[in-house]
Amino acid sequence: MSETANPNGMLDRRAFLRLGAFGAISAWLGLPAAAAPARSMAPRTVIDLLGTQIGIIRRSAWIRTPINYARLRAASPYTRITLHHTGNQALRMTSPHLVAQEISNVQGAHLALHYGDIAYHLIVDYAGRVWEGRSLAYEGAHTLNANEGNIGVMLLGNFEKQEPSAAQLATQANLVALLRHQYRIRASRIYGHRDLSPTICPGGRLYPYVAQLRQT
Ligand SMILES: [Zn+2]
Repeated sequence: MSETANPNGMLDRRAFLRLGAFGAISAWLGLPAAAAPARSMAPRTVIDLLGTQIGIIRRSAWIRTPINYARLRAASPYTRITLHHTGNQALRMTSPHLVAQEISNVQGAHLALHYGDIAYHLIVDYAGRVWEGRSLAYEGAHTLNANEGNIGVMLLGNFEKQEPSAAQLATQANLVALLRHQYRIRASRIYGHRDLSPTICPGGRLYPYVAQLRQT
């Protein structure tokens, strides 16, 4: 599959045309915009759509190592979201260049573990920007024995050692709301990694905010 180079998260022409067509069909059917055919929508279209709603920095901005597609499995319909942290040292960088390097390093670590690609689908940096990780076309590799239908979102940092930034928390809430809407995911299906595996991830200083999202 080809990547759409769109590092500023701006709407490209094809995405605009797709949205335009959807809008027109919705209007013709008398449907509100919210009635999108969620789970059947192609992952690339979902990323384009999210990009217009929240701004997503595309993989082309950070990727430097080829994906091992043979190790990836096609995603099944998404029914849950799991939140993670990076979990090493505290991270507060906001420069896009440094963030790109960090995400690239995470991918490198995951490839060294014989994963096909970075484990997470979406990454949120300290400045609150969203970065595209593994394509949503492929199942994630972020939660042992619980990756099926599970969107992996990782916030850069170690929330045992640092507080998440206000911008990260705001983006996390927005992103989870948009993904829930897109895939019709119930609030009760939002998890911190520690809810599903014996781990401290996503850290004690982030986890309460994840638990809060499950109550909404
Ligand atoms: Zn985790």
